[in-house]
Amino acid sequence: MATTERLHSSHVLIRHPLPAAVAGKAGARICPLCGSAETDTAFTDSGCELRVCNVCELFFVHPYPASGRQHQRVAAGEYAEIELLDCERRYQGERLYYDRHFPLIADEMQCATSVLDVGCGTGHLLERLADRPGLYRAGIELNPLAARIARCAAKCHVLGIPFEQFSGGRKFDVITMVNVLSHIPSFDGMFRAVRAALAPGGKVLLRTSEMSRNVSRWNQIHWGIPDDLHFLGLGTLDFICAKYGFVVTRHIRTPYEEELFLRSRWQQMGRNPFLNLAKRTVAHYPGILPLLKKLYTATLGQRLFVSFIVLRPISDPGSAFAGRRN
Ligand SMILES: [Zn+2]
Repeated sequence: MATTERLHSSHVLIRHPLPAAVAGKAGARICPLCGSAETDTAFTDSGCELRVCNVCELFFVHPYPASGRQHQRVAAGEYAEIELLDCERRYQGERLYYDRHFPLIADEMQCATSVLDVGCGTGHLLERLADRPGLYRAGIELNPLAARIARCAAKCHVLGIPFEQFSGGRKFDVITMVNVLSHIPSFDGMFRAVRAALAPGGKVLLRTSEMSRNVSRWNQIHWGIPDDLHFLGLGTLDFICAKYGFVVTRHIRTPYEEELFLRSRWQQMGRNPFLNLAKRTVAHYPGILPLLKKLYTATLGQRLFVSFIVLRPISDPGSAFAGRRN
């Protein structure tokens, strides 16, 4: 995977209108989370600038899309540098991914009677949950082909509508968003939808990137921006919880280097034949990966993290969306 969020890249963007303050100033360097103009350049990749907010610490692409049409632009191939995986590769990638990450998710779902997987891709997480008696499963996936595969693989409802339009009347004990957060162009819209779809006592499971202020452009080869619209800074989660009325009940922050040099990651093939050859070569010689990891850790370590986060809503947070539960 080229970035920490590559797994579901470009197939899960959920279209939300941006807050007017941001949408009206698409050319301005305004933070899309807190609205502050106090932002600095972090770095540039693929001709796209990544900025960092001095207030909430969010990293975000500039210019930030003024509408929710980024998904269509990426899917239409307007960004040649963004790798679009075909669904067969995606499915195989998901299998390898959840070989590593399913146990943690399953641990948080022990008492759940219903789950909604937002940005479910080809549905492998839902497929893995199929053997749980009495568990109602549903997914949301905007890529029609991936959604079709997910329906066949997971044998459950997979809707092709934006998350904020989800209004089935059903509430869920668990909402999973695995490598999805960075593609959603509206924090307000997303957390409004989360609150509307969560059952009382429910929780949200997130896997997403966090990074320190001194993150380097070279912490990843390909950042996937502007398909990835934003990344959390180390203080951003606290800001989000305060603004939207959530509390963190579990937060596992894993240095990217701990995952980057896992052999199974290097067995996940992409579209680039040269990169695939390099991956096969490295995966074939087991001594190479520890050496690469040592080098990476010494020069770039502890700056980029892959985080597993569990959020629960506060019932009366005095937040922007308190009392708006459907
Ligand atoms: Zn901000």
